[in-house]
Amino acid sequence: MGIPERYRAVAAEVAAACADAGRDPGEVRLVAVSKTVGAEGVGEALSAGARDFGENRPDQIVPKAAAYPQATWHFIGNIQSRRIPDIVASSALIHSLCDLRHGERISDAAARLGKVQDVLVEVNVSGEPSKSGVAPTDAPALVRALCALPHVRVRGLMTMAPRGDAGADRASFEGLARLADEIRPTLDPRDAEAFDELSMGMSEDWREAVSAGATIVRIGRAIFSDEFEETPA
Ligand SMILES: *Cc1c(COP(=O)(O)O)cnc(C)c1O
Repeated sequence: MGIPERYRAVAAEVAAACADAGRDPGEVRLVAVSKTVGAEGVGEALSAGARDFGENRPDQIVPKAAAYPQATWHFIGNIQSRRIPDIVASSALIHSLCDLRHGERISDAAARLGKVQDVLVEVNVSGEPSKSGVAPTDAPALVRALCALPHVRVRGLMTMAPRGDAGADRASFEGLARLADEIRPTLDPRDAEAFDELSMGMSEDWREAVSAGATIVRIGRAIFSDEFEETPA
């Protein structure tokens, strides 16, 4: 199989998993994480119907978003202050915000571009020291502080599960969903209404994420790598 066939297969599996979980497939957006391929790979996935793409480096998202402005671009990587103007110029949604000072700079950069930047707050639900993201206990205050910025709209939360342990994956996805449910009622009504996205689940664990309530799954290798094989659950 090539990229178009793998994209179509994954999209069909995500839709089927939604149906199994009693959810409308329209509730779950598939972000094709194209960080391991060049612009041609993006073009192949687009031709198969992909609309949302994720990148974790400014050097990648800037040229790819310029080459394919018809796609919706998601920034999912580590944020460096000096690259914030580039990230804001290229991204419809930034998934990986976990620092208020970065939020302030994002708001300033968005103001200069005359946009409001949609963001997610990345939460380190599992508490692994190697993972980025804010601690769950610090997330509510960070979300509220970000909501006060004029050119930032907080759309929800994002997490990465521990690798290769289905039980731990499920616990961290359910933890993220619970945290969002705790935060939402503490927000102003307008902010609460916008706070409706849960970005969770990758090639190996997206099924658990869909059943725990993901609204965005971020899938790379299962679409773009001909070597990916799912480890049986
Ligand atoms: C690379 C990456 C993904 C996709 O991972 P796969 O295992 O290739 O599906 C998802 N989210 C983030 C933040 C990533 O960096």
